Amino acid sequence: MTDTLSSRSAKTGALSPRLITEIPGPESQKLHARRQATVSGGVSATFPVYAAHAHDAIIVDVDGNQFLDLTGGIGVMTIGHTNDAVVDAIAEQAAKVTHTLFAVAGYEPYIEVCELLARHTPGDFAKKSVLVNSGAEAVENAVKIARKHTGRTEIAVLHHGYHGRTNLTSAMNYNMHPYGTGFGPLAGSVHHAPNSSPFHDGLSGEEAAERTITHLEKRVGASQIACLVVEPIQGEGGFIVPAKGYLPALLKWCHDNGIVYVSDEVQSGMARTGSYFASDHFGIVPDMVTSAKGIGGGMPIAAVTGRAEIMDSSHPGGLGGTFGGNPVSCAAVVAVFSEVERLGLLAEAKRIEKTLMSGLDGLKNRFPHVADVRGIGAMIAIEFHDPATGKPSADIAKALQAYALQQGVLILTAGSFGNVLRFLPSLVITDSQLEEAVAVMAAGLESL
Ligand SMILES: *Cc1c(COP(=O)(O)O)cnc(C)c1O
Repeated sequence: MTDTLSSRSAKTGALSPRLITEIPGPESQKLHARRQATVSGGVSATFPVYAAHAHDAIIVDVDGNQFLDLTGGIGVMTIGHTNDAVVDAIAEQAAKVTHTLFAVAGYEPYIEVCELLARHTPGDFAKKSVLVNSGAEAVENAVKIARKHTGRTEIAVLHHGYHGRTNLTSAMNYNMHPYGTGFGPLAGSVHHAPNSSPFHDGLSGEEAAERTITHLEKRVGASQIACLVVEPIQGEGGFIVPAKGYLPALLKWCHDNGIVYVSDEVQSGMARTGSYFASDHFGIVPDMVTSAKGIGGGMPIAAVTGRAEIMDSSHPGGLGGTFGGNPVSCAAVVAVFSEVERLGLLAEAKRIEKTLMSGLDGLKNRFPHVADVRGIGAMIAIEFHDPATGKPSADIAKALQAYALQQGVLILTAGSFGNVLRFLPSLVITDSQLEEAVAVMAAGLESL
């Protein structure tokens, strides 16, 4: 940990979880009652606590309880909560211009973001970007562009993938419940193929790729497919890291068959895994990359970045929207990129991997409920099963999540069977904070 980071955390005096009321506290309970009267029940509430303010890896709720945040706003707060430089950039830009609509009157921050994305996404060729508002919107646009570029209609995705909650992206998700059930008809022309999940399928990268490709060739036909959309590390699916050689084999097949390879890096991108984009770990250079969660330091913004000739296949007016590439969000992205460099956060992600992997491997050795520990950088998961049957156990993941909450630690579940806990902390989280979190997990497993 650098001095800068710890002194910034010390500024708010909060480094450890500290609970001063029952959880949820009285003020959170009041807000929860107001929420239930007025917020749609379709929006879930993982934790019944309400945030007042936050810094680095600590969230303070409206009752003054301090929580250690391992959720990072689902991988959004890569830079840490209320990073000084990001907050300043937002305030400065808000006082200059908050909106013109880029297509009406442009502004420099939009162009700067596209330049940064061109520089930091994989691939050494001319790249262009379009900026939008959410990860799902980025995926929608990637598909639109790939269809226009290829003149083809069909979309290929992988089992256990997640791409959003719009009509098209819901159809692209593996889990129909809760994302699609009852909301149909969902978009058609989406084809789901088996993925690579070495812990579960035991296949080598080559074997898994052959299974995926055979499925798509038989069920769809390579010549019909506009794009293959793949998360290099599956996020909601449970931080599934594909076997070595899997992604390069898919990429080669795409290129042999005129299919656009889209890497959905909405969760894995922006320094999260110790590289700017996770595709780098697998030696692949995608045709298009979607990014969103971590790039704006909490501000809503997303992007599709790709080969210039593909990105230019849309006619003028075909891409965009009212708020896409908002100037304040763009200013935040520019500050996030510069803070990642200044604080050396790519190296911090590798430090986090080391600390978490050794802590969680320790749990795996002690508790037969732990089936697997995996991940890259600050994207680490622990998967649970019933030791007697070997079946996925969502109950253990849920019980541990509830136990951690009562100890002041916020952590998310994941996995198509809900049996995974995922660590997605800010890259400024300290080793002692991580060790504290692992100790809470150990005590929780002990108590089960
Ligand atoms: C979160 C996520 C999305 C959807 O992003 P939203 O901003 O929630 O629309 C798409 N793809 C991946 C891989 C994600 O993790």
